[in-house]
Amino acid sequence: MSSLLQRPFSHVIDGKLFDDESAKTILIVNPATEETLANVPIATRDTVEKAVQSAAAAFATWSKWSWDERASRVRKSGEAFRDLKPQLAMLLVAEQGKALGAAHYELDTAQEWFDRLHQLQPKEKVVYENDSTRVIERYLPLGVSAAIVPWNFPVLLMIWKILPAIIMGNTIIVKPSPFTPLCSVRIVEMLQQFFPPGVVQVLTGDDSLGPWLTEHPGIRKISFTGSTATGRLVARSCAATLKRFTLELGGNDASIIMPDIDVPKVAPRVFQAAFFNSGQTCHAAKRIYVHEDVYDRFAQAMASLAKQAKVGRGEESDTVFGPLNNKMQHDKIAEFIDQSRGEGHTFLAGGKMEQTTGYFAPLTIVDRPPEASRIVQEEPFGPIVPLLQWTDEEDLIRRVNDSPYGLGATVWGTDLDRVERVGRRIEAGLVWTNQERMDQHPEVAFGGFKQSGIGCENGMAGLTGWGQIQCIALLKAPTNDL
Ligand code: NAD
Repeated sequence: MSSLLQRPFSHVIDGKLFDDESAKTILIVNPATEETLANVPIATRDTVEKAVQSAAAAFATWSKWSWDERASRVRKSGEAFRDLKPQLAMLLVAEQGKALGAAHYELDTAQEWFDRLHQLQPKEKVVYENDSTRVIERYLPLGVSAAIVPWNFPVLLMIWKILPAIIMGNTIIVKPSPFTPLCSVRIVEMLQQFFPPGVVQVLTGDDSLGPWLTEHPGIRKISFTGSTATGRLVARSCAATLKRFTLELGGNDASIIMPDIDVPKVAPRVFQAAFFNSGQTCHAAKRIYVHEDVYDRFAQAMASLAKQAKVGRGEESDTVFGPLNNKMQHDKIAEFIDQSRGEGHTFLAGGKMEQTTGYFAPLTIVDRPPEASRIVQEEPFGPIVPLLQWTDEEDLIRRVNDSPYGLGATVWGTDLDRVERVGRRIEAGLVWTNQERMDQHPEVAFGGFKQSGIGCENGMAGLTGWGQIQCIALLKAPTNDL
């Protein structure tokens, strides 16, 4: 068990853990055992006001620091993050449920932002010039911002918000998911050694807290990651104060299997892409389109992988896939399985929920359900995936793009020209070829087409989304003829 659990958890406001013994609390449960890990206070409107005031006061000076000064603090805090990772990994397994290897992957990926984000500095540039005028484009900090984070990758998705926000000169208040606030509290607590009070804060709470942040007139930007349904509420709420917002929402990513793949090599990688983090990944392979020439062999390989992989408690060394994170998600997956069964679909693996302690679900593969079925059209966000068959490339592309979502996609094949040609026609924000690792880097923009989001995180576009663009036209000489 992580030693980080031994101290109380609370909000971090104005540089310190906020002591509020009278607050109502939420119990945080280990999804593998259903045992209580800790409790965290529920923020009130008054708590939100305290955090916003501290963030606004901090902004007045933090926004004046130079890029190099801010970047140096980010890099130093990355050394402390590196030291904390072994303990954080255990805490992440305990509160999220993921396998220990997946927890290390999440933390190691987050480390890249601490180590390399500073290299992306958006420099002032001359965008227009003639004999008399020079126009300079630059980005200014926006002000107080807020990060709203889901429970599937609670650390990585939080770091994607905190570091770009603050390196651009903003201050930020983090709202973790009520299911996974523990690592967030400990990381923000650690960051206080490196940043002035109020620059980075965290508030824990229930479902009221998100709307209080999105509607708050003192907050200038919301960076939201979560479901499309909640994203709509965030957009509506932000409209009242015309806040900036970035929405990273749901997905229904296609994985396309070409006829020329090497089945024994590719199937295990597509299997990982579908089931990594027990399918609770926004850009997991959620619809797998397999060419008819290899369908039977590929389906058989996937089914045997699903039957062999160990689903268990995240901290056990042979566990590959942990439980679902919470009961609500567990019930949702049970409902998808029941509906598929009711509609007469064939299961190549799984398909039966067992009565267990912990929110475990079997790795489930559905064999060629109709394209219009719910399991193909919606995002289950768990360890259940349909295999679909294709023959004609045009028809394939039509089916893949016929979705309200457009987050990511992957194309697998050995004819790289064909792989690229198909990949370029997919309506998705990130298209991978022949790789399941879903590589994310600070330099690579991540955002969805259609109802998978608005704006993006990461890359230069994501970073400048944390700034207000300003163009300043400078006359080269004083002039009298105005
Ligand atoms: P969710 O939308 O239920 O919750 C996300 C966050 O929003 C939580 O912190 C929640 O407390 C908060 N929230 C709830 N109601 C709110 C409101 N009215 N106003 C403001 N905030 C509110 O999502 P979830 O179940 O935690 O996460 C799963 C979803 O997130 C999936 O759809 C998944 O695809 C998506 N996701 C997207 C990405 C991406 O980068 N595109 C990454 C991870 C997860």
